Amino acid sequence: MSGSIEEFHSKKAGDGYYERLEAELKKLNAELHAFNNITLLNTGGYPFSAKDNLCVEGVETTASSRILKGYVPPFNATAVERLLKRKFTFIGKTNMDEFGFGTFGLNSDEPARNPFNREYVTGGSSSGAAVATSVMKYHVALAVSTGGSISAPSSFCGVVGFTPTYGLVSRYGLLDYGNSLDKIGIISRSASDTANVFDLIRGPDDKDSTSVSEAPKKEKAKKNLFVIKELLKGETQSYFERFCDKLRGLGYAIGEVSVPDIEKAVQAYYIISMAEASTNLAKYTGFKYGYKNSGFEKGYNEFFTEARSNFGVEAKRRIVLGTFVRSSSVRSKYYDKAMKVRALLTSRLSKTLEKGNIIIPAMPILTPKIEEARQMDSVSVYKMDISTIPPNLCGLPHVCFPYDYAGGMPIGAQIIGSHFSDNGVLEFVQEWEKTFKYKFKYDVGAL
Ligand code: GLN
Repeated sequence: MSGSIEEFHSKKAGDGYYERLEAELKKLNAELHAFNNITLLNTGGYPFSAKDNLCVEGVETTASSRILKGYVPPFNATAVERLLKRKFTFIGKTNMDEFGFGTFGLNSDEPARNPFNREYVTGGSSSGAAVATSVMKYHVALAVSTGGSISAPSSFCGVVGFTPTYGLVSRYGLLDYGNSLDKIGIISRSASDTANVFDLIRGPDDKDSTSVSEAPKKEKAKKNLFVIKELLKGETQSYFERFCDKLRGLGYAIGEVSVPDIEKAVQAYYIISMAEASTNLAKYTGFKYGYKNSGFEKGYNEFFTEARSNFGVEAKRRIVLGTFVRSSSVRSKYYDKAMKVRALLTSRLSKTLEKGNIIIPAMPILTPKIEEARQMDSVSVYKMDISTIPPNLCGLPHVCFPYDYAGGMPIGAQIIGSHFSDNGVLEFVQEWEKTFKYKFKYDVGAL
C-alpha cells in the first residue's frame, strides 16, 4: 500500500531526509497549524506524532491550554514510549481543542486548518493529528478520543481514525479529560498500518490500573452489518445510502435496527464527561504544572483566580457544569440517570453486535465552514456528536474511514464492533481500501 510502513522501510530514507521533513513540515505548519511544536526525536524510523495531551519526555505538552504553557514532562506516555522503543521517529505534538473539549477543532488559540480547503473546519478534538496524517505520506498519529475526537476529525480530513476497546491501550501519560471514557487510538492513512501500530502500543501496563490484559480477538471482517435507523438523517444521508448500496454489491448484508432513545446518549455523555473533566481540571492551580503566577501576596482566592483564568471559555463552561452535576443535591437527577443511560445503551448495542457489526455515518453534516461552525451555539455543537458518542460511551472499538467526497471534501463512515473486536473492524476497513482509493492534497515526506 502506498505510504505504508513497509513501503517506507523498503525505500530507505537517505541522508538528510529528516532535516528536509522537518523544514517542510515547519513551512506548511505556518499555514495549517497541525502541530503545536515540531520536535524530532529518535530519527531513523517511521514518523509518528502525539496529540498534545500525551506526555513526551522533554517536549512541551500543553493540551493546547494556556494554563499548561511551559510544562515539560519528565516522562513518556506508555504509548509513546512503546513506539520509541520500536525505533519510530517522534516528529511533534499535534494541535487539539483545549483538553479535548470540542467537535470542530476551533477551541484552541490557533485552530488547525483543513488541508482540503482552509475555509472548512478540521473536526476535533484531535484536529492536528488528522491534518498531519492528511498531509504526510509516511506518518501515524497517536490521538485520543473521549466522545468522538478521533472519528470527527478523521471524517472531515479524510483519514482513517481508529478508537480501540476501552482499556486495551494504556492511558498512562495522558492528560485526562474523562477517565472512564478516554481511549488512546491511532489516525493513519490505512487500516493495515493502524493494525500494525495498534499491536505495538496495546497490552497491559502496570502504570494504568484500567489497562486490561485480554488481547483483542483474532477476527475477520463480518459480512452482516446493521445501520441504526435514527442516525440516518441530515446532509450525509443520501451519500451514506449510496455507500450502503456499494457495500451490498461487495457482498455485505445490511439490516436496520432501531434505537429510539439514541439521542439520550449525547445528554448522558456530556453529563458524565463534564463531571469527570471538572475533577480532572482541579489540579491546574498554578502550583505544580505550567503557568506560574505572580505569587501569594495578593491572597489565596486571587492566586487561584489568576491561574485559572487561563482556561478557555469551553473549559470554564465544563468546570461549572461538571461541578454542578456532581453536587449532592442534583446527583440523582443528572449523574445517576446518565450512568443508567450508559448501561442501557451498552446492553442494547451489544445485542445487535452479537449478530454483526454496526455501520453508521460518522457525522450528521457535511464539513462546515469555519465561520458557520463558529456561529453554532454549544448545544447544537454537542448534538453533532450523535453518531460518535454511542461507541465511545460504551467503550466499543470503532474505525472512521472515508467513503466518498462531496464538493471535494471527504465524508466518513464508522464501523463499530463488540468489545475486543478491534481486529474485525480494522479488517473491514482493509477490505474497503481494496476497492476505494483515498485522496490527499499533500504528500509531505514522500520518497
Ligand atoms: N466533542 C466531544 C466533546 O467535546 C468529544 C471530544 C473528545 O472525544 N475529546 O467532549
